[in-house]
Amino acid sequence: MISFQLSEEQIALKDMVRKFAEKEISPVAGKFDESSEFPREVITKAWELGIMNCAIPSKFGGLGLSVMDDVIINEELGAGCLGMGTSICVNNLALYPILFGGTDAQIEEFCGPFLKEPKLASFCLTEPGSGSDAGSLSTLAKEEGDHFVLNGSKMWITNAGHADLFTVFATVDKGLKTKGIICLAVPANLPGIHLGKHENKLGQRASDTRGITFESVKVPKKNLIGKIGEGFKIALKTLDHTRPSISAGAVGAARAAMEHSIKYAKERKQFNQPIASFQAIQFMLADMATSIEAGRLLCYQAAYHLDQGQYEKGNFASAHAKRFSADMAMDVATNAVQIFGGYGYTKEYPVEKIMRDVKLVQIYEGTSQIQRVVIARHLLNT
Ligand SMILES: Cc1cc2nc3c(=O)[nH]c(=O)nc-3n(C[C@H](O)[C@H](O)[C@H](O)COP(=O)(O)OP(=O)(O)OC[C@H]3O[C@@H](n4cnc5c(N)ncnc54)[C@H](O)[C@@H]3O)c2cc1C
Repeated sequence: MISFQLSEEQIALKDMVRKFAEKEISPVAGKFDESSEFPREVITKAWELGIMNCAIPSKFGGLGLSVMDDVIINEELGAGCLGMGTSICVNNLALYPILFGGTDAQIEEFCGPFLKEPKLASFCLTEPGSGSDAGSLSTLAKEEGDHFVLNGSKMWITNAGHADLFTVFATVDKGLKTKGIICLAVPANLPGIHLGKHENKLGQRASDTRGITFESVKVPKKNLIGKIGEGFKIALKTLDHTRPSISAGAVGAARAAMEHSIKYAKERKQFNQPIASFQAIQFMLADMATSIEAGRLLCYQAAYHLDQGQYEKGNFASAHAKRFSADMAMDVATNAVQIFGGYGYTKEYPVEKIMRDVKLVQIYEGTSQIQRVVIARHLLNT
């Protein structure tokens, strides 16, 4: 039997986050988009509400929420502001590798502090020379006594300028390809870590994005998460688990674009009638609604498989959810701007921001092309 009904707790969670987004995020979304300042106060409020780091299991003092719960949270944050949603949810991306590959002692040591204070963490996989082909990364982790010495650069790292902890993927020997990749928990205050400039982005301007350079950074061997050679698998498993939530953020942003469009179409009159009376506008709204429903269902399906521990199905379903929701949100936001006409092209209305924000979902955490590569691999069994 398949159920499409959220549990009472999930309905309450959705309601709580929706109210939070309406009260704390939407009213300031335009301001942070304009200034590209980091919304630290909003993030602190999200932490106080308990919607950050929620994958940390209860045995370590966390909430141990499911991927499905995270999907619910992210749709509502995305409806408020996708950039702030990214800033809030990236801790999960950074802490999952420790939850998946770490020992109990490492989870206590590295994830525990995030439950006590509104700290931030960054997931450091991408490099200037390796993006989609993440397995070809070059950051070197050389074993020296009881340390790894890190040298190399990471690129496009979310929240890097404000993080207390970096989850860094590096290689002990590039010749070993993905089998040489390790995962390290790297405190951000270690000597030799240099942050790049805050990137001046097209959208999601409330999220902090920068490069990081590691210059002979001595990382204790006890910070190795998993074994040597397990880093790449840990990174991929992490991305499978966060893609449904990232996709749900796009669903939320698309939903917001549709809601703004419905309101505007009823108010705006041309030819002596609301533009909502024109079938061309009605069909755009109808297509938006169908696409949003479809995107949400794909997110729920991916979350369901992952929560059941069905990783193979979860990998396939996450790629479907990410590919469809990202491209769908871009289409919906573009059509929302169309419904607003000239006004939609200005910062007077919120739809142009949504259009700029959702573009990033087609790029980060695996581009729409890479999701198609994953889907095709499953189809062709390669
Ligand atoms: C704002 C922002 C925040 C980010 N945050 C993080 C973060 O916190 N941590 C992190 O590690 N990374 C992060 N990233 C990096 C992001 O995941 C990469 O940008 C993404 O994986 C693409 O890599 P690339 O930019 O190097 O593009 P490339 O890999 O160079 O791709 C360029 C183009 O080629 C296409 N392409 C590449 N390979 C193939 C293929 N095999 N088949 C078909 N098409 C292909 C791509 O789809 C794309 O259209 C972030 C990026 C941005 C822009």
